[in-house]
Amino acid sequence: MAKYTGPSCRLCRREMMKLFLKGPRCHTEKCGVARRAFPPGQHGQTRGAKLSNYGIQLREKQKVKRIYGVMERQFRRYFQIASKSKGVTGKVLLQELEKRLDNVLFRLMFATSHVQARQIVGHGSIYVNNKRVNIPSFSVKKGDEIEVKGKEGVKKAVRANINLSKDRGVASWLEADLANLKARVLRLPDREDIQMPIQEQLIVELYSK
Ligand code: SF4
Repeated sequence: MAKYTGPSCRLCRREMMKLFLKGPRCHTEKCGVARRAFPPGQHGQTRGAKLSNYGIQLREKQKVKRIYGVMERQFRRYFQIASKSKGVTGKVLLQELEKRLDNVLFRLMFATSHVQARQIVGHGSIYVNNKRVNIPSFSVKKGDEIEVKGKEGVKKAVRANINLSKDRGVASWLEADLANLKARVLRLPDREDIQMPIQEQLIVELYSK
């Protein structure tokens, strides 16, 4: 499946809710969902058909993929990991997504969006346990030490992102030393740590058909 390169706001409008894909802009009146609260496309304003069960499950999966910026193949791989684990499948699925390095940077306020977090990781300025990691899907573990190192320009951008993200705060499963751009994974994320309205059971039902 090709990577989506169209407007981010269109994705939110399709799900009829803010997915916060654009950072600070999402909190302004310029937000696409705030301005046009109906699905995109020619029939966006007129289509009122009730979704089937399958449609509801599919939309939930698409929503979660979009929140984390993950493509279908990778998402399915996370589901396979979750379904083979001893834990509750839906919860483990969300945990796997939360543990991605790009998401961790977002939760640390080092980035204002997942897209930006992926760019920062790609620049090669993120070190995990003193080793450079430039793979956004890298999965963190309890006790991992994360640090922004290298080019001053990237550090400056990360500090600016922290200032812009102050309202969000740092996720409680992470510990951040924001002044020195360092962090540590205190524990694995719990279901309660994920604040977005997600019904993971619908995704489990979809893939279990
Ligand atoms: Fe979504 Fe942000 Fe665009 Fe609003 S501004 S529609 S939350 S990406």
